[in-house]
Amino acid sequence: MAARGGIHTAVDNALAIGAEVIQTHPTPAQMWRPLRLEDAERELYLAKYAASGLRGHYLHAVYLINLASPKEALLHSSVTSLVHYMEVAASLDADGVVFHPGSHLGAGFDSVLAQVAAAIREVIDRSPPGRARLLVENSAGSGGCVGRSFEEVARIVEAAASDRVGVCLDTQHAFASGYDVRDPSGVARTLDDFSRLIGFQRLGLVHANDSARALGSNADRHANIGEGEIGEDGFRILLGDPRMRRVPWVLEVPGPERKGPDREQVSLLRRLAGA
Ligand SMILES: [Zn+2]
Repeated sequence: MAARGGIHTAVDNALAIGAEVIQTHPTPAQMWRPLRLEDAERELYLAKYAASGLRGHYLHAVYLINLASPKEALLHSSVTSLVHYMEVAASLDADGVVFHPGSHLGAGFDSVLAQVAAAIREVIDRSPPGRARLLVENSAGSGGCVGRSFEEVARIVEAAASDRVGVCLDTQHAFASGYDVRDPSGVARTLDDFSRLIGFQRLGLVHANDSARALGSNADRHANIGEGEIGEDGFRILLGDPRMRRVPWVLEVPGPERKGPDREQVSLLRRLAGA
């Protein structure tokens, strides 16, 4: 949800499209600028949220984060930014902070794993107490992205060794990195892999996005639900699995006018869930 004009406007925007959970980018996704949250604005948000009937709020960290970077300064900014997001989450009583772990830029996953895990531990250690979990999102696998497979995500989460670290499963990224979720057998294989390698107790959130690119393309290109390569059937099958229904689903689709998810997309997903 857009939150221009203050974080409380995300609540209005969510209700306007019939959403039950929200994800916001509280700061511009391509800048390091921290959020300055005035008390009055925070209280307005908390009052609106409490009255809204919404059942979850997830923050999406900035895209600049790279915990796998060889550059000390970028690693430091990344950790500081994630700590800031965890502070914002605590002050808004939000449910989680989703982030992309970053890219090893060709150095290879094994050579950055220890650094990524140590950085995540540092973020957790410096975070205030609160309900929010730090959620590692699987990547589409382009450009040396860390977390391109359930194996890699599992190894990050295991090495970080904290109950406050969970996983956000993005359906488009999974499809682009080779998980075929278009039919029952593909979905079964994908979710069994997830269960065996990561475990569903770690799943905190689903990013529900159709894919504008082919299976295994490694391209991070979201499409509206039903208009991409995964298609309505894939989402119906995914939504039919009880393990996937225990967590909130948020849309990160372009929408009909490229203004983001709309009421149609929310109701389509709800229909595919059999609701
Ligand atoms: Zn996503």
